[in-house]
Amino acid sequence: MSSKTKITVAYGDGIGPEIMKATLSILEAAGAQLEYDIIEIGEQVYLKGISSGMEPKAFDSLRETKVFLKSPITTPQGGGFKSLNVTTRKSFGLFANVRPCKAYSPFVKTHFPKTDLVIIRENEEDLYAGIEHRQTQEVYQCLKLISQPGSEKIIRYAFEYAKKYGRKKVTCMTKDNIMKLADGLFHKTFNDIAKEYPEIETDHKIIDIGSALIAERPEMFDVIVTLNLYGDIISDIAAQVTGSVGLGGSANVGEEVAMFEAIHGSAPDIAGQDMANPSGLLNGAVMMLVHIGQPEIAEKVGNAWMKTLEDGIHTGDIYQEGISSKKVGTQEFAQAVIERL
Ligand code: NAD
Repeated sequence: MSSKTKITVAYGDGIGPEIMKATLSILEAAGAQLEYDIIEIGEQVYLKGISSGMEPKAFDSLRETKVFLKSPITTPQGGGFKSLNVTTRKSFGLFANVRPCKAYSPFVKTHFPKTDLVIIRENEEDLYAGIEHRQTQEVYQCLKLISQPGSEKIIRYAFEYAKKYGRKKVTCMTKDNIMKLADGLFHKTFNDIAKEYPEIETDHKIIDIGSALIAERPEMFDVIVTLNLYGDIISDIAAQVTGSVGLGGSANVGEEVAMFEAIHGSAPDIAGQDMANPSGLLNGAVMMLVHIGQPEIAEKVGNAWMKTLEDGIHTGDIYQEGISSKKVGTQEFAQAVIERL
């Protein structure tokens, strides 16, 4: 009897195919029990005139497997088709975006070696709800939507996450000194739910000083829960201060479906050159293995990946004279991880 879990896989655009190939070769070598349903997303699909960037059969695949391992895609900026990422998150109710940002010092250079924080970002509401229109010839309006149920769901998720993973503190970030009603609702909901978790320390920072503190003192944070736009921005800041955007993986979790990806984009500037760091997608895949009940494989992959970094085998984005021992391309990095499984 097959105990394999069927997952939906998309190779994406730009560096997507290279980092997916590297990631899947590591998962296979580690003995992950997986079957793939491969779907096409992104540029090729947009070119067919499908504005969601995903064909109906791709949505069917996700409805069936409920687990999506996705490479980055190229999204047109300031016009053109809408973001497939936003569409997927909204279509499948992926309300929680979980982005761990950890320093791997001394193997990856950072000024903040003790950084180990997790950003939990609300993923469906706020300015990303997609309600945007033209009011007059000169004025466009984009609606910021914050709901009580949406806020409750993500804040409770953050506290439950903290409890499950033994984290000590949850910090809420909003701009409720200015957006007193919308951000105010999120902050108030945070204060209410915090009372249910007396064992967890809580804190609130206004998002501007919060962002500055992530850049200057990231080690003070543990779990951060915040609104959609702020979470998107601060997670790139946090990933960068730990070393490289190429390292971060992310989970987009809903009641039924979950999507796992790297936090970075399709990096068209280095696409097709075997230069990309596959670690972000690999770390997303490790979160996926835990989610589908294969934690021992997740641990095996995570340990082999750490050992590869420790041995100084680094892709160009994290290569440092004096720290690194060998500069490798995407597939050679994957091979080095496989040798350490
Ligand atoms: P990006 O993250 O693709 O690249 C930013 C910089 O980081 C580039 O210099 C790139 O070379 C480098 N970089 C990124 N990932 C790397 C890796 N794995 N290894 C080594 N270097 C890496 O951001 P961008 O250039 O702003 O966006 C490019 C495209 O990606 C845009 O179309 C954007 O909309 C899209 N995007 C997609 C996602 C997603 O699919 N989840 C997320 C963010 C951006």
